[in-house]
Amino acid sequence: MMFFILLWQTCLLAFGTDACCGPGDECWPTQMAWNAFENSLSDANRNYTFPPIGEARAPFDQWPMMLNMKKVYHRPANQTTCYEELDFAKQSSFCKVSTANKPAANVSPAVVIWPASVSDVQKAVDFVRRNRLCLCVVGPANSESSRGMSTRNNCALLRTGVLRDMDWEPNDKTGGSVRLGAGLRFVEVYEAAENQQRLVVGGNCPQVGVVGWLLGGGHSAYSPAYGLGVDNVLNIEMVSANGSAVNITEGGMSFQDFGRAEVTTSNSTDLWWALRGGGGGTWGVVTAVTYKAHLLPQVTEFFVQAIFPWLGEAAMKIKLALYYDVSKLMGDKFSMYAAWVTVVSPEPAILFVAEVRYFGSNDDDACKRVRNEFLNVWKANISEKHNNTVMSVLDSLYGAYTGSDDPIFVALEPTTPSLYSEFGSAAATGMVDLRTDKTEFVRAVAACFGASIREGIVIQVLFFNTWTGLSGEQAVGAEASTPLAYGTRNGIFEIGVKVPEQRGVTEDENKHFSANVVQPLLNNALASVYFSETQYLLPDWKTRYWGSNATVRRLEQIKFAWDPESLLGCRNCIGDTSDHRIPPWPPWMFWITGALAFFCLVLLVMYCLRGGGQVKDGYEGLVQQ
Ligand SMILES: Cc1cc2nc3c(=O)[nH]c(=O)nc-3n(C[C@H](O)[C@H](O)[C@H](O)COP(=O)(O)OP(=O)(O)OC[C@H]3O[C@@H](n4cnc5c(N)ncnc54)[C@H](O)[C@@H]3O)c2cc1C
Repeated sequence: MMFFILLWQTCLLAFGTDACCGPGDECWPTQMAWNAFENSLSDANRNYTFPPIGEARAPFDQWPMMLNMKKVYHRPANQTTCYEELDFAKQSSFCKVSTANKPAANVSPAVVIWPASVSDVQKAVDFVRRNRLCLCVVGPANSESSRGMSTRNNCALLRTGVLRDMDWEPNDKTGGSVRLGAGLRFVEVYEAAENQQRLVVGGNCPQVGVVGWLLGGGHSAYSPAYGLGVDNVLNIEMVSANGSAVNITEGGMSFQDFGRAEVTTSNSTDLWWALRGGGGGTWGVVTAVTYKAHLLPQVTEFFVQAIFPWLGEAAMKIKLALYYDVSKLMGDKFSMYAAWVTVVSPEPAILFVAEVRYFGSNDDDACKRVRNEFLNVWKANISEKHNNTVMSVLDSLYGAYTGSDDPIFVALEPTTPSLYSEFGSAAATGMVDLRTDKTEFVRAVAACFGASIREGIVIQVLFFNTWTGLSGEQAVGAEASTPLAYGTRNGIFEIGVKVPEQRGVTEDENKHFSANVVQPLLNNALASVYFSETQYLLPDWKTRYWGSNATVRRLEQIKFAWDPESLLGCRNCIGDTSDHRIPPWPPWMFWITGALAFFCLVLLVMYCLRGGGQVKDGYEGLVQQ
């Protein structure tokens, strides 16, 4: 019996996610039904700031904005691609609001819905569910610019951008908390936090959304001292796949079914566990999150810069081993964001720049020790921070070394949309954690540098030392406090290798180098990958994000309990089967498999009834003997 229930669940999860009903299909709601739904949504003003596609360096206040948006946008019948030109102003309204910035992926929502309240979200989920459409969710859409993970073809895309409440509850002793609407980005939170004299742990790049960041785990420059996003969240408000408004905390949850007044409570912590690292918009539509607001700590910041002439892979291994050692020495009192960039001409070299934060005073022994390490062992320069970033410091270092006026562009996001869907935020990423084999890690990264110099293709290797998180080793697994894999929970640092767009290297050469050189090297050396910063085609993605099969199984069970029809889905999320290696199944397969499972179940029941009698006879026969 258990077997057939499992088969049924697998069928639902496996075949229920892929093919979404789209415009023109028989299942698509009539225009009248859409109009009635749209009229039921609130009339609040809908304004939103969009990420500037292809202009990753533009300051936030120069990002394009749309005022008085419609509640619902339908994809025009003749709209096949978006962003053939990288200019927001030249896009159709639908392309603007759908952020369909991955022409190569050929994935586009059929309709984009902008709810302005929790009740709007409930109405949208109910409408989508009743009409058996697919639902996908996007907040500020950073995963769109980094890896194209949230949209499914023909889905009804629910955008949370208008949900922008921000309520502070300061507390003089603990710091207090802040409740944030799901449409906010950290840039807005940090500005307000400065006025409140509080520290909120959030993404290093401030344009990251407050919900997507948390769902993946959420790392921050402050994580070594204050933990990941999953350690900083106090409350999650969500609309589930059946339209209930659910309030989720560490101690349990309460929920109110759509259209009902009564509130039910439960002490189940399944959703609390799954949402804190289970990744992406597959669990429900989060409408708000409450984070801890910390009292302001003392922070000392400085830059480290060095140029290492290229002396071969063996010498590079020594440098990388030093990086590993200094990172361990730093422990949870520091955070570091470092970039290593190969220079292929005039003379091959590696540029190194790191931005270091110490949670204490410059005069503390721990701080002096690390500074001395860089000065004496690394022979590096140290400068104090003056409103610089790693990128701008690297620009000047690069210019000084190569004699070039061209800026060197180092950023997490790719610079051309054509690379988005296949490579995500970096060609490859991985976690170096407390158990990582140091020799394996230095060998793999030194080999990336070696190949880069040999083939004359510049690579950027970014290191985020933000992960040690809370003192000591944190438990992982199905019974641990979060579903995060060992490397994400106990990382010392994350590595992301990028092959930037560059002169003299065609897009095909770039892709070939990424897929055939960089990715295998890193994927083989590092077991865990951070859900939110991952390559698009990642082998063994489930165990890389969540560790053990038992953890993945628990996540899948929770997904089935809360979304049995797989209404919600996203790329490489629990419930996703869209991986290109699995052939797409037509929707009728779902019904055939269900009917087969039912038929087998009937056969099994009949067999048991007959077989049960035989066992009884045999037993009686034995007794008689
Ligand atoms: C420039 C840049 C810098 C970054 N820096 C950091 C960093 O410092 N630390 C870090 O940890 N990560 C960082 N990231 C990765 C970032 O955390 C992920 O891209 C994350 O997914 C962004 O979340 P979002 O809400 O902005 O994006 P979205 O694309 O809107 O959402 C990401 C995922 O979350 C789901 N989701 C979003 N909102 C909701 C909601 N309200 N309800 C349900 N599901 C939802 C989406 O369906 C999708 O699966 C960075 C990314 C970029 C592009």
